[in-house]
Amino acid sequence: MSKDDTRSRGERLGIGPCWPYWDQMFPTRPTSGFIHFKTITTGRHIAQRLWDARETGRRTLDERGAGGEHRGLVVYHPDCWWGACADCTWLGPGRGTRAYDEVSAVESHTGALPLLVVRWLPPWDRADSDVEFQVLPWIATVDDEAS
Ligand SMILES: [Zn+2]
Repeated sequence: MSKDDTRSRGERLGIGPCWPYWDQMFPTRPTSGFIHFKTITTGRHIAQRLWDARETGRRTLDERGAGGEHRGLVVYHPDCWWGACADCTWLGPGRGTRAYDEVSAVESHTGALPLLVVRWLPPWDRADSDVEFQVLPWIATVDDEAS
């Protein structure tokens, strides 16, 4: 790795397509080898699921013809909700365990309420379906249902 390498940490470490989210989730170099290991293993998997949820939301909005420059989403990976944007790599701070915890961050980024909530379903929550992501419209009550 040369001093002139301008790639982000996630790109340099080969995190994969979710590197923009990984970089935002782990912005500083870990202070221990163990934490570094956890960020490139467990952390990478969580970043990938959030990225896949964002991509599911983006495709859904595209299919519905929902326009906009920065279309807001809230994406989920147990047990935390994150604001996300369907049109750029912005990721909210992941403040809490309720979808509503990320609304103000989404509003700050997009100027509007989130359009969709995209929830990753762990295998034990998929019932008889192989559907990996549940896509819901943003409504005030979704938080009670999904948390
Ligand atoms: Zn955006």
